[in-house]
Amino acid sequence: MSVQTVRNADLIVINARVLTMDAARPSAEAVAIRDGLIAAVGDKTEIEALRGPDTKVIDARGGSVVPGFIEAHMHLFSGAAELAHLQLFGLHGFEALRDAVHAYAASRPDAKMIVGQGADYTILGGERVTRHHLDAIIPDRPFLMAAPDHHTMWANTRALEMAGVLHGRELTPGNEIVMGADGLAEGELRENEAFNPVLKLAGEGRVRLGLSTGGEPDPVPNAEERAGDRAIMRRGLDWCARHGITSVQNMDGNYYQLELLSEIEAEGDLICRVQVPFHYKNFMTIDMLDKASDMAARYKGEWLSSGVVKLFYDGVLDSWTAVMLEPYADRPDWVGEPLFSPEEFKRLAVEIDRRGLQIAVHSIGDGATRAVLDGYEAAQKANGLRDSRHRVEHVEVTTAADIKRFVDLGVIASMQPPHPPGAMSFPLEPTVTRIGRERWAYAYPTRTLLDAGAHVVFASDWPVAPIDPILGMQAAMLRKPWADDMPDQSVSLRQALAGYTVEGAYAGFMEDRKGRLKPGFLGDLVVLSADIEATDPAVLHEVRPVITICGGRVTYQA
Ligand SMILES: [Zn+2]
Repeated sequence: MSVQTVRNADLIVINARVLTMDAARPSAEAVAIRDGLIAAVGDKTEIEALRGPDTKVIDARGGSVVPGFIEAHMHLFSGAAELAHLQLFGLHGFEALRDAVHAYAASRPDAKMIVGQGADYTILGGERVTRHHLDAIIPDRPFLMAAPDHHTMWANTRALEMAGVLHGRELTPGNEIVMGADGLAEGELRENEAFNPVLKLAGEGRVRLGLSTGGEPDPVPNAEERAGDRAIMRRGLDWCARHGITSVQNMDGNYYQLELLSEIEAEGDLICRVQVPFHYKNFMTIDMLDKASDMAARYKGEWLSSGVVKLFYDGVLDSWTAVMLEPYADRPDWVGEPLFSPEEFKRLAVEIDRRGLQIAVHSIGDGATRAVLDGYEAAQKANGLRDSRHRVEHVEVTTAADIKRFVDLGVIASMQPPHPPGAMSFPLEPTVTRIGRERWAYAYPTRTLLDAGAHVVFASDWPVAPIDPILGMQAAMLRKPWADDMPDQSVSLRQALAGYTVEGAYAGFMEDRKGRLKPGFLGDLVVLSADIEATDPAVLHEVRPVITICGGRVTYQA
């Protein structure tokens, strides 16, 4: 006679509406976790059978339980730092801006610079923001405010003077210090090279290095600076856990970020799985990809990994820096300038792909996406078909022909549901006019890509938009066309959830381990405050994460 013992679960979640995202068993009442993995998914009796004296029991009270959210495109380090900046998201009008800046500046008498985040391009209505507006608000201290997309910033005269850019400066293509008729900088700074000198004044250079240069801090931070940076990183991880996020695909990076996260992991506090890419910039040489390969070889754990090369091919629509096939509707002589030539990008794509690394390219205009797909096609031809899962980030405007190529080439479309103008908090103008009516049908084409059969992954691009995946799902489901004759780009609840779970797992080559609640998968899940299937999408934002569990451990509890 043999006695078979089933080991008790470490943790069970009961009274839940479990959305497993597993076709074999789409719904369940309860989940059991053991040794950091999903041990069982089933009805109440099945799961209660695994309950022992030491089992932690979580009562979901009828709320949904879903796989931990996978945030497929964000900027953890700089986002975390920005949590402490002046938040201008959704704020409009000179008086409102003035009052917000005054209150914030008064509360930070020692700040090296006053930095605002999330300023709409139309924060002053139809009027373009200049340093004169900002001087009228705060003349005596350096002030800089960033557009939500972080591709344009505006500085007052004091900041421009201190940074030494008031009289302009020679920059590489794609970057611009907008100059006034008086020969002085107007205050508007387009892209990294233009605003980095000003941003440096804030003394937060290290948090943006992974984005601005992809390089390492120089000088090497001392122990105190490192501890401060770890604290910033921890704040970001907490912010993720609080929003139900259990995995992050970061979209900027360097060794320094990996080291900080690895130190946090050693201290037992890495509460979110993080992937950090190597960021290849257009001033680098191709041999520098050795660093990307080295990062991939050194970091390949379930909690901390690399293996991705991130690049920017173009800028954004709102500053005319996105690369279009045909001129902008409101600038008929201009299509934007790419950050790499198509030939250069092809060479790079072939080399990165040859190294077995994944490629993720910021590509907003239809011209950029054309060139990026050409590069991926060239890589496939040169190196042969492999499971590469290269990605295009944003895909804000594209064409019918290229939508088909996403499917044919097996390329992942990384879409940000909060980004389409009118979908969440970004205003329609100037973006929709700039795109031009003829291109609207293929603008932010989420559903069109899904219907075509492409892999579509969802993300916030935090801190460009709020990190909250539930807000993102809501925006994706409630998406409204800008005109009656435009295709519907809204998605279903299941599609929205898939974008933040199974598709994220696929993008991270982890679809056999995460993104679903299935025995043997990682114990990553979120307990929500209500049943999301029974919730009207219009009030989906009221549903909140109650408990986040990552690797079987509670990482957030409301
Ligand atoms: Zn981004």
